[in-house]
Amino acid sequence: MRCLLCDRALRELMRWSYILHQNRQPLCETCAAQFQPYEQSFSLLGIDSIVIHYRYNEMMQDVIYSYKGFGHIRLAQLFRPLLTSLRKERRASIVPIPSHVHKVERIGFQPIEHLLQVAQVPYQSLLEKVYDGELSRLSKEERQRVDRIVRVREGVRVRAHCILIDDVITTGTTLQQAATVLREAGAKRIDAFVLSRPVKKERA
Ligand SMILES: [Zn+2]
Repeated sequence: MRCLLCDRALRELMRWSYILHQNRQPLCETCAAQFQPYEQSFSLLGIDSIVIHYRYNEMMQDVIYSYKGFGHIRLAQLFRPLLTSLRKERRASIVPIPSHVHKVERIGFQPIEHLLQVAQVPYQSLLEKVYDGELSRLSKEERQRVDRIVRVREGVRVRAHCILIDDVITTGTTLQQAATVLREAGAKRIDAFVLSRPVKKERA
């Protein structure tokens, strides 16, 4: 068995611990150490609580780019141990933030939905993307002017408690909009579960 990131063979002990306890990442010690916890606090208006797990460091950037940009689907296994904690949320709707249709057609899967499938977390695809531009090229002000990035799909039932799932947040515009449209559709409590966020540089 090999490390999913660097392809080095895993030591015997780690290999067994991965096979026996499915809650381990298939990583060597060096790669595993690069998953750094996100320790800053972050809150967004309209979202009751946000949990951010890892720093969006160079390694995380590579992982997410390979996964979403190039469609390296096996990388979804890296987040399985983390996401399995969502299985206990039986009353809430687990709501993945969707990717653009053209991106999904290119790589062949919905990135956040696939992460949840691999972790065997039941989810509801309540949202769809509407804005068809490259959001990352816009400034914060421009993003706010873009009317709607996501909307609630037609004919779905929105539960009172929704937990939004996304991979990276910077300003949080998409999450906030998702929360707004879900509230309009009847949700009362919105939480967010995010894989990573860039850490603000501390000034010297
Ligand atoms: Zn490795």
